[in-house]
Amino acid sequence: MAMKFPASGRWITGAGPVLQSTNPATGLVHAEIGTPSSEEIAQACAFAAESAAAKSWRDLKPHQRADYLHRIANGISHGLDDLAQAQMIENGKTLKECRQQAASAAATFRYYAAVCETMESAVPPSRGDYLVVTTFEPYGVVAAITPWNSPLTMEAQKVAPALAAGNTVVLKPSEVTTLPSLSLARICEEAGLPSGILSVLPGYGRDVGTSLLAQREVRMVSFTGGTETGRAIAQTAAKRLIPAALELGGKSPHIILEDADIDAACAGVVDGIFEGMGQSCVAGSRLFVPRARHDEIVDILVRKAESIRLGQPTGPDTELGPLSSHHHRDKVADYVDLARKEGASIATGGSRPSGSEFDNGAFYQPTIITGLTNAARVCQEEIFGPVLCVLPFDNEQDLVEQANDTAFGLACGIWTSDYRRAWRISRAIDAGTVWVNTYKQLSISAPFGGFKDSGIGREKGLSGMRLYQQAKSTYFSMK
Ligand code: NDP
Repeated sequence: MAMKFPASGRWITGAGPVLQSTNPATGLVHAEIGTPSSEEIAQACAFAAESAAAKSWRDLKPHQRADYLHRIANGISHGLDDLAQAQMIENGKTLKECRQQAASAAATFRYYAAVCETMESAVPPSRGDYLVVTTFEPYGVVAAITPWNSPLTMEAQKVAPALAAGNTVVLKPSEVTTLPSLSLARICEEAGLPSGILSVLPGYGRDVGTSLLAQREVRMVSFTGGTETGRAIAQTAAKRLIPAALELGGKSPHIILEDADIDAACAGVVDGIFEGMGQSCVAGSRLFVPRARHDEIVDILVRKAESIRLGQPTGPDTELGPLSSHHHRDKVADYVDLARKEGASIATGGSRPSGSEFDNGAFYQPTIITGLTNAARVCQEEIFGPVLCVLPFDNEQDLVEQANDTAFGLACGIWTSDYRRAWRISRAIDAGTVWVNTYKQLSISAPFGGFKDSGIGREKGLSGMRLYQQAKSTYFSMK
């Protein structure tokens, strides 16, 4: 019997096709999940709109809304192991990483509870005999569409601020990772969140996602995923004149300058690309090194990459699990083959690991590629896997030009002992996030998003709640 999902105020099996969920570490199907028909999608959105308009939700005072978010956060903390398991079994990340992400999801709900209680309305300066008060109001129904790489954190980053802002949410998770979303919905229900405030519609983007965005009740879309999908969603949103927040892909430059602590930098580079098997939008996938230090740095990176322990995600010593699906593993392998055709040298990796424990899973070795220029396809296209391209630079101008010579602009890392130089380069790089002598350090309180093809809008931080609100100015005559 297919698993149920929450839509139109109840848990239903759905009249759409049944999804099979496969464990990428074993290749075995472990769950079947129902999906909604078009009528059920329409009904779910109509019910979400009614729930958004209901006085019992719309008129809640900020501290009352914050109370729901605190209860959800507590539910996540309480169910942390189950949530981590649900993600691990579907996307193959290690249990340790999944637990950290579940804890981060709880922290996100707590943060937006605090934001909800403390964000103020505005009283802009009057230019006449009136008082103007600007309030921030919900859109109504928000469609949240999420990818498979980190559903626990990404769904919290959308659902928590959207609810804090007073909306209802219809969530369409990736078809690869539905279980974490269903667990989150269950936790919300147990926390007392009224039905219809959070719905989950499992299924494929091309049918459930498209149909969701066509519903007139959907007044805003928040999307995280690939750039091409983001472009298609932006076109739909433009036709419908609804706002779209887009967190998209990256091909982030990671930079080691001559004066850096090379060993610490290499450790940061290895974590920055291989953690989560490179399935991170901010993965530092292009490494720029001074030409004279290229070979020395590659040797250190190879040693570190080859010491990473691959294994089953449940293993206590496992540092990297499989990729999220066999299909995705094949896509990564195709990119490495393309690199070979483009004339690359494979400094390490470049194939599936050997050993019976890897036979059925979607495993791939951490791979380091040298000998290409930044113009190569593997240096320009997002691989979203454990593949690092090392590129030499000659001087600072050459470095900045190469680093910015990409369609993307999500993140950047700089390793140096000269903070003035770090600041100068940081300001010159097209990226929404820059790390200096660290990488992938993320905070819910700092805005996050991309320049160029990496997205539109910023999630997280105080403004992350404003993303889900529209301003209304009310004038009171004082004559
Ligand atoms: P996709 O863009 O393929 O899919 C993301 C979500 O959109 C999925 O739920 C997908 O459904 C759905 N979708 C696909 N097509 C449509 C459509 N036409 N209308 C509505 N929804 C649709 O990305 P992936 O899931 O493959 O995730 C990997 C990508 O996400 C990478 O490119 C990565 O860079 C990006 N990403 C960006 C982040 C950021 O913050 N900037 C963070 C994490 C990932 P389905 O599952 O059926 O495909």
